[in-house]
Amino acid sequence: MTPPRRDGAHEAAETAGREAPALSAAEEERLVSAALASADERVIEGALRPKRLAEVIGQGRVREQLSLLLEGALRRGRAPDHVLLSGPPGLGKTTFAMIIATELGAQLRITSGPAIERAGDLAAILSTLGEGDVVFIDEIHRLARPAEEMLYLAMEDFRVDVVVGKGPGATAIPLDIAPFTLVGATTRAGLLPAPLRDRFGFTAHLDFYEAAELDVIVRRSADLLGVALRGDGAEEIARRSRGTPRIANRLLRRVRDYAEVRADGTVTRALARAALELYEVDEEGLDRLDRAVLGALVTRFGGGPVGLSTLAVAVGEEAETVEVVAEPFLVRGGLMARTPRGRVATPAAWAHFGLTPPEPPGLAVPGGLFE
Ligand code: ADP
Repeated sequence: MTPPRRDGAHEAAETAGREAPALSAAEEERLVSAALASADERVIEGALRPKRLAEVIGQGRVREQLSLLLEGALRRGRAPDHVLLSGPPGLGKTTFAMIIATELGAQLRITSGPAIERAGDLAAILSTLGEGDVVFIDEIHRLARPAEEMLYLAMEDFRVDVVVGKGPGATAIPLDIAPFTLVGATTRAGLLPAPLRDRFGFTAHLDFYEAAELDVIVRRSADLLGVALRGDGAEEIARRSRGTPRIANRLLRRVRDYAEVRADGTVTRALARAALELYEVDEEGLDRLDRAVLGALVTRFGGGPVGLSTLAVAVGEEAETVEVVAEPFLVRGGLMARTPRGRVATPAAWAHFGLTPPEPPGLAVPGGLFE
Protein backbone atom coordinates (compact mmCIF):
# COMPACT_ATOMS: atom_id res chain seq x y z
CA MET A 1 0.00 0.00 0.00
CA THR A 2 1.26 3.46 -0.83
CA PRO A 3 1.42 5.79 2.13
CA PRO A 4 -0.57 9.03 1.74
CA ARG A 5 1.19 11.92 0.02
CA ARG A 6 2.25 14.78 2.16
CA ASP A 7 3.41 17.22 -0.48
CA GLY A 8 4.93 20.49 0.55
CA ALA A 9 6.44 18.90 3.62
CA HIS A 10 9.94 19.05 2.31
CA GLU A 11 9.92 22.60 1.13
CA ALA A 12 9.26 23.62 4.70
CA ALA A 13 11.83 21.17 5.97
CA GLU A 14 14.34 22.40 3.45
CA THR A 15 14.31 25.98 4.57
CA ALA A 16 13.80 25.29 8.24
CA GLY A 17 15.81 22.21 8.94
CA ARG A 18 18.97 22.40 6.86
CA GLU A 19 22.10 23.16 8.70
CA ALA A 20 24.78 25.39 7.25
CA PRO A 21 27.62 23.39 5.74
CA ALA A 22 30.64 23.37 8.00
CA LEU A 23 32.92 25.40 5.76
CA SER A 24 33.89 29.03 6.35
CA ALA A 25 31.72 32.03 5.46
CA ALA A 26 34.33 33.27 2.99
CA GLU A 27 33.93 30.05 1.07
CA GLU A 28 30.19 30.47 0.89
CA GLU A 29 30.54 33.94 -0.55
CA ARG A 30 32.68 32.88 -3.44
CA LEU A 31 30.70 32.86 -6.63
CA VAL A 32 31.84 29.62 -8.08
CA SER A 33 34.26 27.66 -5.98
CA ALA A 34 32.24 27.10 -2.92
CA ALA A 35 29.54 25.33 -4.90
CA LEU A 36 27.84 25.33 -1.53
CA ALA A 37 24.57 27.12 -1.09
CA SER A 38 24.07 30.02 1.33
CA ALA A 39 20.78 30.33 3.23
CA ASP A 40 19.22 32.78 0.74
CA GLU A 41 20.31 30.72 -2.16
CA ARG A 42 18.64 27.64 -0.74
CA VAL A 43 15.28 29.33 -0.98
CA ILE A 44 15.84 30.06 -4.67
CA GLU A 45 17.23 26.58 -5.16
CA GLY A 46 14.05 25.16 -3.72
CA ALA A 47 12.16 26.76 -6.58
CA LEU A 48 14.57 25.49 -9.20
CA ARG A 49 14.88 21.91 -8.02
CA PRO A 50 13.33 19.25 -10.19
CA LYS A 51 10.60 17.68 -8.07
CA ARG A 52 10.19 14.31 -9.81
CA LEU A 53 12.63 11.80 -11.22
CA ALA A 54 11.29 12.37 -14.72
CA GLU A 55 12.19 16.08 -14.49
CA VAL A 56 15.84 15.44 -13.62
CA ILE A 57 18.27 16.42 -16.35
CA GLY A 58 21.42 14.33 -16.80
CA GLN A 59 22.68 11.60 -14.42
CA GLY A 60 20.84 9.12 -16.64
CA ARG A 61 22.25 5.99 -15.04
CA VAL A 62 21.57 7.07 -11.46
CA ARG A 63 18.09 8.11 -12.47
CA GLU A 64 17.33 4.77 -14.02
CA GLN A 65 18.77 2.79 -11.13
CA LEU A 66 16.84 4.85 -8.62
CA SER A 67 13.67 4.52 -10.60
CA LEU A 68 13.94 0.72 -10.42
CA LEU A 69 14.71 0.80 -6.72
CA LEU A 70 11.73 3.02 -5.95
CA GLU A 71 9.31 1.27 -8.27
CA GLY A 72 10.26 -2.11 -6.77
CA ALA A 73 9.74 -0.80 -3.25
CA LEU A 74 6.39 0.76 -4.12
CA ARG A 75 5.19 -2.51 -5.67
CA ARG A 76 6.18 -4.47 -2.59
CA GLY A 77 4.74 -1.81 -0.29
CA ARG A 78 8.00 -1.75 1.67
CA ALA A 79 10.57 0.96 2.38
CA PRO A 80 13.40 0.72 -0.17
CA ASP A 81 17.03 0.04 0.73
CA HIS A 82 19.05 2.84 2.23
CA VAL A 83 20.63 5.08 -0.40
CA LEU A 84 24.08 6.67 -0.35
CA LEU A 85 24.76 9.54 -2.73
CA SER A 86 28.30 10.76 -3.17
CA GLY A 87 29.90 13.45 -5.29
CA PRO A 88 31.14 17.03 -5.23
CA PRO A 89 28.86 19.81 -3.93
CA GLY A 90 26.08 21.19 -6.12
CA LEU A 91 25.51 18.14 -8.32
CA GLY A 92 22.09 17.19 -7.00
CA LYS A 93 22.43 15.02 -3.89
CA THR A 94 19.82 16.96 -1.92
CA THR A 95 17.64 17.15 -5.00
CA PHE A 96 17.69 13.38 -5.38
CA ALA A 97 16.94 12.89 -1.68
CA MET A 98 13.86 15.07 -1.99
CA ILE A 99 12.78 13.33 -5.14
CA ILE A 100 13.09 9.94 -3.45
CA ALA A 101 10.67 11.08 -0.75
CA THR A 102 8.27 12.58 -3.29
CA GLU A 103 8.29 9.50 -5.50
CA LEU A 104 7.57 7.32 -2.47
CA GLY A 105 4.88 9.71 -1.25
CA ALA A 106 6.81 9.78 2.02
CA GLN A 107 7.56 12.40 4.61
CA LEU A 108 11.13 13.72 4.49
CA ARG A 109 13.26 14.62 7.48
CA ILE A 110 16.40 16.59 6.71
CA THR A 111 19.47 16.90 8.87
CA SER A 112 23.23 16.82 8.50
CA GLY A 113 26.25 15.14 10.09
CA PRO A 114 27.53 18.28 11.82
CA ALA A 115 24.02 19.09 13.16
CA ILE A 116 23.87 15.81 15.05
CA GLU A 117 26.23 16.48 17.91
CA ARG A 118 25.21 13.69 20.21
CA ALA A 119 23.65 10.27 19.75
CA GLY A 120 20.60 11.66 21.58
CA ASP A 121 20.01 14.14 18.73
CA LEU A 122 19.79 11.25 16.31
CA ALA A 123 17.62 9.19 18.65
CA ALA A 124 15.20 12.14 18.83
CA ILE A 125 14.83 12.13 15.07
CA LEU A 126 14.63 8.38 14.62
CA SER A 127 12.19 7.73 17.43
CA THR A 128 9.61 10.13 15.99
CA LEU A 129 9.61 8.70 12.47
CA GLY A 130 6.46 7.44 10.82
CA GLU A 131 6.43 4.24 8.81
CA GLY A 132 8.17 4.64 5.46
CA ASP A 133 9.60 8.10 6.21
CA VAL A 134 12.76 9.17 4.44
CA VAL A 135 15.61 10.60 6.52
CA PHE A 136 18.21 12.65 4.68
CA ILE A 137 21.58 13.10 6.38
CA ASP A 138 23.79 15.49 4.43
CA GLU A 139 27.56 15.36 4.98
CA ILE A 140 27.08 12.00 6.64
CA HIS A 141 30.85 11.48 6.90
CA ARG A 142 30.86 14.17 9.60
CA LEU A 143 28.62 12.25 12.01
CA ALA A 144 30.03 11.92 15.48
CA ARG A 145 31.10 8.38 16.34
CA PRO A 146 28.38 7.55 18.92
CA ALA A 147 25.67 8.75 16.50
CA GLU A 148 27.23 6.72 13.73
CA GLU A 149 27.12 3.59 15.88
CA MET A 150 23.52 4.23 16.75
CA LEU A 151 22.78 4.52 13.06
CA TYR A 152 24.21 1.05 12.34
CA LEU A 153 21.59 -0.60 14.48
CA ALA A 154 18.82 1.69 13.27
CA MET A 155 19.60 0.98 9.62
CA GLU A 156 19.83 -2.75 10.09
CA ASP A 157 17.26 -3.65 12.72
CA PHE A 158 15.11 -0.50 12.95
CA ARG A 159 16.04 -0.24 16.59
CA VAL A 160 18.00 2.21 18.73
CA ASP A 161 19.49 1.69 22.14
CA VAL A 162 18.78 4.71 24.30
CA VAL A 163 21.24 4.95 27.16
CA VAL A 164 19.71 6.08 30.41
CA GLY A 165 21.88 7.21 33.33
CA LYS A 166 25.63 7.62 33.57
CA GLY A 167 28.65 5.61 34.62
CA PRO A 168 28.35 2.02 35.87
CA GLY A 169 24.61 2.40 36.50
CA ALA A 170 23.84 3.34 32.89
CA THR A 171 21.44 1.05 31.08
CA ALA A 172 20.60 0.75 27.40
CA ILE A 173 16.90 0.62 26.70
CA PRO A 174 16.11 -0.80 23.27
CA LEU A 175 13.51 1.16 21.35
CA ASP A 176 11.84 -0.01 18.16
CA ILE A 177 11.60 2.56 15.40
CA ALA A 178 9.44 2.59 12.29
CA PRO A 179 10.98 1.12 9.12
CA PHE A 180 12.47 4.09 7.27
CA THR A 181 14.79 4.81 4.39
CA LEU A 182 18.02 6.61 5.04
CA VAL A 183 19.44 8.75 2.27
CA GLY A 184 22.99 9.73 3.09
CA ALA A 185 24.96 12.28 1.11
CA THR A 186 28.69 12.80 1.20
CA THR A 187 31.29 14.76 -0.67
CA ARG A 188 33.90 12.35 0.66
CA ALA A 189 32.76 8.77 0.31
CA GLY A 190 36.28 7.58 1.11
CA LEU A 191 35.92 8.85 4.68
CA LEU A 192 32.88 6.69 5.45
CA PRO A 193 33.74 3.78 7.70
CA ALA A 194 33.15 0.43 5.98
CA PRO A 195 30.43 -0.73 8.43
CA LEU A 196 28.39 2.36 7.57
CA ARG A 197 29.04 2.14 3.84
CA ASP A 198 28.06 -1.53 3.81
CA ARG A 199 24.66 -0.81 5.29
CA PHE A 200 23.56 1.15 2.24
CA GLY A 201 21.85 -1.20 -0.20
CA PHE A 202 22.23 1.29 -3.03
CA THR A 203 25.14 3.62 -3.67
CA ALA A 204 25.32 6.18 -6.44
CA HIS A 205 28.13 8.48 -7.41
CA LEU A 206 27.08 11.74 -9.05
CA ASP A 207 29.53 12.97 -11.62
CA PHE A 208 29.97 16.39 -13.19
CA TYR A 209 27.43 17.26 -15.92
CA GLU A 210 28.13 17.65 -19.60
CA ALA A 211 27.81 21.14 -21.09
CA ALA A 212 24.80 20.01 -23.16
CA GLU A 213 22.98 18.91 -19.98
CA LEU A 214 23.81 22.16 -18.23
CA ASP A 215 22.50 23.98 -21.25
CA VAL A 216 19.09 22.37 -20.71
CA ILE A 217 19.27 23.08 -16.96
CA VAL A 218 20.06 26.77 -17.55
CA ARG A 219 17.18 27.13 -20.01
CA ARG A 220 14.79 25.45 -17.63
CA SER A 221 15.88 27.74 -14.77
CA ALA A 222 15.61 30.81 -17.02
CA ASP A 223 12.02 29.81 -17.81
CA LEU A 224 11.20 29.39 -14.13
CA LEU A 225 12.85 32.69 -13.17
CA GLY A 226 11.44 34.58 -16.16
CA VAL A 227 14.85 35.45 -17.61
CA ALA A 228 15.04 36.32 -21.31
CA LEU A 229 17.83 33.95 -22.32
CA ARG A 230 18.99 33.49 -25.87
CA GLY A 231 20.34 30.11 -27.03
CA ASP A 232 23.92 31.37 -27.38
CA GLY A 233 23.71 32.97 -23.94
CA ALA A 234 22.61 29.67 -22.40
CA GLU A 235 25.46 27.87 -24.12
CA GLU A 236 28.02 30.30 -22.77
CA ILE A 237 26.75 30.00 -19.19
CA ALA A 238 26.56 26.20 -19.43
CA ARG A 239 30.12 25.95 -20.74
CA ARG A 240 31.49 27.96 -17.86
CA SER A 241 29.53 26.30 -15.07
CA ARG A 242 32.19 23.85 -13.93
CA GLY A 243 29.95 20.91 -14.72
CA THR A 244 27.77 21.88 -11.73
CA PRO A 245 24.03 22.74 -11.81
CA ARG A 246 24.25 24.88 -8.69
CA ILE A 247 26.90 27.02 -10.36
CA ALA A 248 24.93 27.15 -13.61
CA ASN A 249 21.93 28.52 -11.74
CA ARG A 250 24.09 30.95 -9.82
CA LEU A 251 25.82 32.27 -12.93
CA LEU A 252 22.46 32.65 -14.62
CA ARG A 253 21.29 34.91 -11.80
CA ARG A 254 24.46 37.01 -11.91
CA VAL A 255 24.28 37.34 -15.68
CA ARG A 256 20.64 38.33 -15.41
CA ASP A 257 21.58 41.17 -13.02
CA TYR A 258 24.16 42.34 -15.50
CA ALA A 259 21.71 42.12 -18.40
CA GLU A 260 19.07 44.08 -16.53
CA VAL A 261 21.38 46.82 -15.27
CA ARG A 262 23.71 47.25 -18.21
CA ALA A 263 21.49 46.23 -21.14
CA ASP A 264 17.89 45.52 -22.04
CA GLY A 265 17.60 42.38 -19.91
CA THR A 266 18.16 39.84 -22.68
CA VAL A 267 21.02 37.44 -22.06
CA THR A 268 23.10 36.97 -25.19
CA ARG A 269 26.48 35.32 -25.59
CA ALA A 270 28.32 38.65 -25.68
CA LEU A 271 26.55 39.77 -22.57
CA ALA A 272 27.17 36.50 -20.73
CA ARG A 273 30.86 36.71 -21.62
CA ALA A 274 31.16 40.28 -20.35
CA ALA A 275 29.32 39.45 -17.12
CA LEU A 276 31.30 36.29 -16.41
CA GLU A 277 34.55 38.11 -17.02
CA LEU A 278 33.49 40.62 -14.41
CA TYR A 279 32.84 37.77 -11.98
CA GLU A 280 36.23 36.19 -12.79
CA VAL A 281 34.91 32.99 -14.25
CA ASP A 282 37.21 32.05 -17.10
CA GLU A 283 36.64 30.33 -20.45
CA GLU A 284 36.90 26.88 -18.94
CA GLY A 285 34.73 27.77 -15.99
CA LEU A 286 37.69 27.90 -13.61
CA ASP A 287 37.16 30.42 -10.87
CA ARG A 288 39.56 32.18 -8.56
CA LEU A 289 40.17 29.22 -6.25
CA ASP A 290 40.69 26.81 -9.15
CA ARG A 291 43.16 29.19 -10.76
CA ALA A 292 44.92 29.87 -7.46
CA VAL A 293 45.40 26.14 -6.83
CA LEU A 294 46.50 25.40 -10.35
CA GLY A 295 48.67 28.52 -10.51
CA ALA A 296 50.46 27.62 -7.26
CA LEU A 297 51.01 24.08 -8.48
CA VAL A 298 52.54 25.25 -11.75
CA THR A 299 54.52 28.32 -10.72
CA ARG A 300 55.46 27.76 -7.08
CA PHE A 301 55.93 24.04 -7.09
CA GLY A 302 57.21 23.59 -10.66
CA GLY A 303 54.24 21.39 -11.53
CA GLY A 304 54.56 19.15 -8.45
CA PRO A 305 54.33 16.58 -7.08
CA VAL A 306 53.25 18.45 -3.99
CA GLY A 307 51.20 17.35 -0.98
CA LEU A 308 47.62 18.52 -0.53
CA SER A 309 48.26 20.40 2.71
CA THR A 310 51.26 22.27 1.30
CA LEU A 311 49.19 23.28 -1.70
CA ALA A 312 46.32 24.39 0.53
CA VAL A 313 48.64 26.55 2.67
CA ALA A 314 50.03 28.14 -0.50
CA VAL A 315 46.55 29.33 -1.52
CA GLY A 316 45.44 30.18 2.03
CA GLU A 317 42.64 27.61 2.13
CA GLU A 318 41.69 24.60 4.22
CA ALA A 319 43.00 21.35 2.79
CA GLU A 320 39.45 20.00 2.76
CA THR A 321 38.17 22.89 0.63
CA VAL A 322 40.92 22.35 -1.91
CA GLU A 323 40.26 18.62 -1.93
CA VAL A 324 36.45 18.70 -2.06
CA VAL A 325 35.78 21.85 -4.07
CA ALA A 326 38.65 22.61 -6.44
CA GLU A 327 40.37 19.30 -7.06
CA PRO A 328 37.59 17.11 -8.42
CA PHE A 329 36.93 19.55 -11.23
CA LEU A 330 40.60 20.12 -12.02
CA VAL A 331 41.21 16.36 -12.10
CA ARG A 332 38.12 15.74 -14.19
CA GLY A 333 39.18 18.52 -16.60
CA GLY A 334 42.56 16.86 -17.08
CA LEU A 335 44.43 19.79 -15.53
CA MET A 336 45.68 18.08 -12.40
CA ALA A 337 46.53 14.50 -11.50
CA ARG A 338 46.64 12.86 -8.11
CA THR A 339 49.62 10.57 -7.68
CA PRO A 340 50.86 8.66 -4.64
CA ARG A 341 53.60 11.30 -4.27
CA GLY A 342 51.24 14.27 -4.45
CA ARG A 343 49.38 16.53 -6.84
CA VAL A 344 50.86 17.04 -10.29
CA ALA A 345 50.06 19.60 -13.00
CA THR A 346 49.36 18.07 -16.41
CA PRO A 347 50.66 19.66 -19.64
CA ALA A 348 47.14 21.09 -20.12
CA ALA A 349 47.56 23.02 -16.85
CA TRP A 350 50.76 24.63 -18.10
CA ALA A 351 49.03 25.42 -21.38
CA HIS A 352 46.15 27.02 -19.45
CA PHE A 353 48.59 29.67 -18.23
CA GLY A 354 50.32 29.92 -21.61
CA LEU A 355 53.42 28.16 -20.26
CA THR A 356 55.47 25.20 -21.49
CA PRO A 357 56.06 22.36 -19.01
CA PRO A 358 59.71 21.73 -18.15
CA GLU A 359 61.37 18.63 -19.64
CA PRO A 360 61.20 15.58 -17.37
CA PRO A 361 64.63 15.39 -15.65
CA GLY A 362 65.68 12.02 -17.10
CA LEU A 363 65.02 13.15 -20.66
CA ALA A 364 66.72 16.51 -20.29
CA VAL A 365 70.18 14.90 -20.08
CA PRO A 366 71.47 14.22 -23.58
CA GLY A 367 72.10 10.53 -24.05
CA GLY A 368 70.22 9.65 -20.89
CA LEU A 369 71.34 7.39 -18.09
CA PHE A 370 72.61 4.40 -19.99
CA GLU A 371 75.39 5.93 -22.02
P1 ADP B 1 24.07 18.93 -3.55
O1 ADP B 1 23.11 18.48 -2.49
O2 ADP B 1 24.74 17.82 -4.27
O3 ADP B 1 25.04 19.96 -3.05
P2 ADP B 1 21.68 20.11 -4.73
O4 ADP B 1 20.81 18.93 -4.84
O5 ADP B 1 21.41 21.06 -3.61
O6 ADP B 1 23.22 19.68 -4.69
O7 ADP B 1 21.61 20.87 -6.14
C1 ADP B 1 21.94 22.24 -6.27
C2 ADP B 1 21.00 22.93 -7.22
O8 ADP B 1 21.28 22.46 -8.54
C3 ADP B 1 19.52 22.63 -6.98
O9 ADP B 1 18.87 23.76 -6.52
C4 ADP B 1 18.92 22.32 -8.31
O10 ADP B 1 18.15 23.42 -8.75
C5 ADP B 1 20.08 22.18 -9.23
N1 ADP B 1 20.16 20.81 -9.77
C6 ADP B 1 20.89 19.79 -9.26
N2 ADP B 1 20.78 18.70 -10.03
C7 ADP B 1 19.97 19.04 -11.05
C8 ADP B 1 19.49 18.33 -12.20
N3 ADP B 1 19.84 17.07 -12.45
N4 ADP B 1 18.66 18.97 -13.04
C9 ADP B 1 18.33 20.27 -12.81
N5 ADP B 1 18.77 20.99 -11.76
C10 ADP B 1 19.57 20.39 -10.89
